[in-house]
Amino acid sequence: MGSFESLEWLSRFLDETPGDIEVGGRPRQVPNACWSRVKPTPPPNPQLLLWSGEMASKLGLARPDGVILGGGAIIEGMDPYAQRYGGHQFGIWANQLGDGRAITLGEVQLENEVLELQLKGSGITPYSRFADGKAVLRSSIREFLCSEAMHHLRVPTTRALSLVTIGEMVTRDVMYDGNPAPETGAVVCRVAPSFLRFGSFQIHSASNDYSTLQTLVEHTVKHHFPNHSVSDDTGRVRWLTHIAEQTAVMISHWMRVGFVHGVMNTDNMSIHGLTIDYGPFGWLEDYNLGWTPNTTDTSRRRYRYGQQSQIGAWNLAKFFESMIPLMDEPNLLHEALDAYTNISHNLQNDMWVAKLGLDRFKTSDQSLIEELIELLQVVETDMTIFFRLLCSIEIPQIDTLSSAFYDSSTIPTEQWNAWLSKWWRRVGESPSRSKMRNANPKYVLRNWMAQLAIDAAEIGDISVCEELYLVLKNPYDEQPEYEEKWFQKRPEWARNRVGCSMLSCSS
Ligand code: AMP
Ligand code: MG
Repeated sequence: MGSFESLEWLSRFLDETPGDIEVGGRPRQVPNACWSRVKPTPPPNPQLLLWSGEMASKLGLARPDGVILGGGAIIEGMDPYAQRYGGHQFGIWANQLGDGRAITLGEVQLENEVLELQLKGSGITPYSRFADGKAVLRSSIREFLCSEAMHHLRVPTTRALSLVTIGEMVTRDVMYDGNPAPETGAVVCRVAPSFLRFGSFQIHSASNDYSTLQTLVEHTVKHHFPNHSVSDDTGRVRWLTHIAEQTAVMISHWMRVGFVHGVMNTDNMSIHGLTIDYGPFGWLEDYNLGWTPNTTDTSRRRYRYGQQSQIGAWNLAKFFESMIPLMDEPNLLHEALDAYTNISHNLQNDMWVAKLGLDRFKTSDQSLIEELIELLQVVETDMTIFFRLLCSIEIPQIDTLSSAFYDSSTIPTEQWNAWLSKWWRRVGESPSRSKMRNANPKYVLRNWMAQLAIDAAEIGDISVCEELYLVLKNPYDEQPEYEEKWFQKRPEWARNRVGCSMLSCSS
């Protein structure tokens, strides 16, 4: 195990794409650039709080103190920068956004891959607009735990290496209601092949800078999609179809485990189909297709659970549109969008096959699935518990699943038993249980679980974070010792609590 100095640092992105000539963080417009060099703000008292041993061993890093990972020192080989990008926020083009509080330390060459290390919350950049470039402990714990949990759920995601508290308070008005309060400041170091987003490309197209767009596309394909070539339309469409497929795969996993991203703006859509930018995300408790955890979105619920796949299509359409200037025959872009629709549809069927332990998808399964989706919404029914208990059912009777319901007196028993009998016949009284257990996790990071970890950490007790981190490393295992605590429906105290049922982008 080595130190940061022993890593092989690269700066391919800075070397190969155009950047800002000015160095430093004064918020401004940065036309024609993909990045700005900027130094992290050194924290007064950095303390390493959470550490991903797995990510560290992948990088070959021994557990350090919090200085470098808190943004307190730059070592030789690092060349820190903030990325410039734009995006559609809630359906509206927002122009330049960029890394307002994320600073990439550099890229690290490993044996078979290159990974980018990025600090989130380490100070002002040219893209900070009116904000402070900082992050609070609450949102940093959520990002650390959730991105690691998603990885172990087999959901494509950026990962976390560390969480450092900075020894400084940061003021946030959590519900945007005129009640700002100081919170503990923190920095997460996150890791991914790159943090390029749909919006990284859109910004150049929107500002008619087709030469930068072309350079960025070539850089991206060369390093991140080496099996592709974008020298002609056929190649371009093949590459974009690949991105569409990865996006579809990611969203179908979200649907499988009950994850709601909450802010699917095009600046939060990774070019690699990774779950990125953990903010006001949430997990379904009761199976509610219309639910979103993000209070900023409560009136329209654009990013609700049941609409994530369609939003994926909308976002891809905007991303593909930004490629029009590079196409000889822009109409061909429709092929990539159609591919998304087909792939999503097939993945959704595959998902139900796995969740219900079927042998394969038959057209007649459509009604079985539709009836299930409807029944799950008749009364408050916990998604995770329902599907997990279904994996072990011995007799097709709903009373064996009663702990999935919030109020057992309201269970529509007859309807459920009819559905269960139908399913039971379909699987020949022998569902593929191992397939089901692999698709229906027992442990996910419900908002109230994250909130308990945050409440404890804010008074200096990191044990709940550590325990959840451990449990969530094996989300498909029974782990009976944790059942009573973490295989549970949302407790009543969490029903209307800020941070559990209501979240904002304030982080
Ligand atoms: P998000 O909703 O987290 O994806 O953020 C949207 C944009 O606002 C991105 O460009 C972020 O980098 C920026 N941003 C969010 N929070 C802050 C902050 N505290 N300081 C500076 N920029 C921020
Ligand atoms: Mg973002």
